[in-house]
Amino acid sequence: MLSLETPVSDLRMIGPIYHQRLNKLGITTIGDLLHHIPFRYDDLSKITNTKSIHLDDVITIIGKVLSIKNIFTKYGKNIQIASISDETGTIDVLWYNQPFLVNILSQGTRISIAGKVEEKDKRLILISPEYEIIKDKQDNSYSHLIHTGRLVPIYNETQGLSSKWIRSRIHSILFKLFIDIQEFLPEEIIEQNNLVNEKEAILKIHFPQSLIEADEAKKRLSFDELLILQLSSILRRNQWNKKKANFVLNLDKTKDRIDDFINNLPFKLTQSQTKAVQEILKDLVSQKPMNRLLEGDVGSGKTVVAAIAMYATYLIGHNSVIMAPTEILAFQHYKTVSELLAPFNVKIGLVTGSSKKQNQIIPDVLIGTHALISNKTKLSKVGLVIIDEQQRFGVEQRSKLREKVGSPHVLTMTATPIPRTIALTLYSDLDLSIINELPLGRIQVKTWVVPLIKRSAAYIWIRKKILSSNPHQQAFIVCPLIEISESIKSVKAAVKEFEYLKHDIFSDLKLGLLHGRMKTNEKNKIIDQFKNNKIDILVSTPVVEVGIDIPYATIMMIEASERYGLAQLHQLRGRVGRNNLESFCLLFSESDNLKAISRIKLLEKIYNGPQLAEYDLKLRGSGEIFGTNQHGHFFLKIANISDLKLFEETKHSAESLMSKGKGLSKFPLLREKLQKYTIRNIAPD
Ligand code: ADP
Ligand code: MG
Repeated sequence: MLSLETPVSDLRMIGPIYHQRLNKLGITTIGDLLHHIPFRYDDLSKITNTKSIHLDDVITIIGKVLSIKNIFTKYGKNIQIASISDETGTIDVLWYNQPFLVNILSQGTRISIAGKVEEKDKRLILISPEYEIIKDKQDNSYSHLIHTGRLVPIYNETQGLSSKWIRSRIHSILFKLFIDIQEFLPEEIIEQNNLVNEKEAILKIHFPQSLIEADEAKKRLSFDELLILQLSSILRRNQWNKKKANFVLNLDKTKDRIDDFINNLPFKLTQSQTKAVQEILKDLVSQKPMNRLLEGDVGSGKTVVAAIAMYATYLIGHNSVIMAPTEILAFQHYKTVSELLAPFNVKIGLVTGSSKKQNQIIPDVLIGTHALISNKTKLSKVGLVIIDEQQRFGVEQRSKLREKVGSPHVLTMTATPIPRTIALTLYSDLDLSIINELPLGRIQVKTWVVPLIKRSAAYIWIRKKILSSNPHQQAFIVCPLIEISESIKSVKAAVKEFEYLKHDIFSDLKLGLLHGRMKTNEKNKIIDQFKNNKIDILVSTPVVEVGIDIPYATIMMIEASERYGLAQLHQLRGRVGRNNLESFCLLFSESDNLKAISRIKLLEKIYNGPQLAEYDLKLRGSGEIFGTNQHGHFFLKIANISDLKLFEETKHSAESLMSKGKGLSKFPLLREKLQKYTIRNIAPD
């Protein structure tokens, strides 16, 4: 018998090509496939006969193929025209470019067709309807209909997987093969929260009899998802609470020097920076290691806050480590932190994948990429670990680094906006500091969505702006996000765009090119030149997304902006406007999809990261997914991020389950689910 753990490759109906496509979506087991849930249902449940239909009705008709033929129109179009009959009459049906239908739907075939009734040459007609062949002549209940005659589930159609294909496979698994779906929630939780059982939920999320049934199913599966998240967060908290920190800060002895450091900064800390610093120092004086998330928009000044924590750590004789997701970022941190801390005698080192052998002397602050985790990198006396853009690292990488250095205090930093309420319920093991203001005097980045016809005008405007001051103002031009990771394709596109802009558009300006496949020292060279105002325009792939600080950059121009999530675009525009100079973000789009345009137009009005993140999450339901892999906040597959009530309910249930003595030992099936989840998922820890 099949179980949820059976690999999809075990199914005969899934061949190697589809197996690969499924893998790309992260679907490797039958359980994954069954949890690939529809984002809406087409209501094709009205079954009627040819005589009773009206224009614009959405209906299903069951009958026989009376005739079908292939036609080439004089304009070279290929259409299929069929006539379908039932007891009451006939209806014409038309498909485009599907010549194979003539073979599949030969005369006499019993068929169910569904769609919206239209009019052509004064006759009612169905154009490109859904269809399915009815094989079982005995069955008159039509309960076996999959693609017609019911609420039909519609799935995200990605990577060559059509809704129809997915639907057929799921239907076979649920109704033709035997699959064992066990209930894993304790009875009391099911009762208290009014849930349907697991098997019912999976059946009904795909093939509901009514929208109410679909809702019940969705509630149950959302509950599962959130409960598991809540339980794992409680587990992590419990484990964390047992630890003893590598060092305890003595504030009496260090306070003056920390104050001195803060007073010597070239600027005054904002209120929320000051608050974050206080919260962190309070953590450092405790026996329990800090586990704090520092959240703040790009440019809100998280690095300084981190530097103060590192300075405090240094004063007590311990070392700090910063792990950043890219070499560019690590390098930038290295420079910034050096500027801040070197005058106070703190020794700073840099380790990346491409750096040569490490120095024998272990510095007070070591900055690097995941190369820090490697055994070649020696770490000792580490009291503080700082992880930048934490969502970019997997659980494993983060815990490996921690294990390597004992029980350090941990500060994670993110510019990915997570709505506060969500953060507090989901990451109950993390303490949260939020920097919710930009440094004083910094100006909002004016944002426009630029229509296609204004492209050349925009180029002229950019040139004028760049030349309007001395030193020159600078611009980023970000090339289309072609694939999620830095692929050859993206690089090629960027190189081509760079050549074009350099020769045909901005031949009088200095242009630079940056992409992820360049050697590190080349990259650093370009960034240095850009930073030192030797390059006017930096053409790049979306790798610049995180963290580069260029004081004179005032223009951020993004190509194919409709391909990004709103929060991602917000992060990109945070790259400019760092020097109190009026700054601009130009969002280009070649799309004529009004929905897509109105979505990115939200950036013209909204300057609040978490709010934009909420929009991303809401719009996710419409079947569009943006930059999923890059952004850890798309962590929910089923539950709705705005369903705060369910967040509360699951939190309550998780706490009551865990409070009953020995954790989950009384609920082995639930515990097993939780273990599997923890192994498979990248959850913040
Ligand atoms: P983040 O890491 O949050 O994106 P950074 O720490 O890189 O932001 O800070 C962005 C820029 O703002 C840096 O150049 C930094 O020196 C500067 N900065 C930080 N805090 C302040 C402040 N309170 N006032 C003025 N400038 C600041
Ligand atoms: Mg930063």
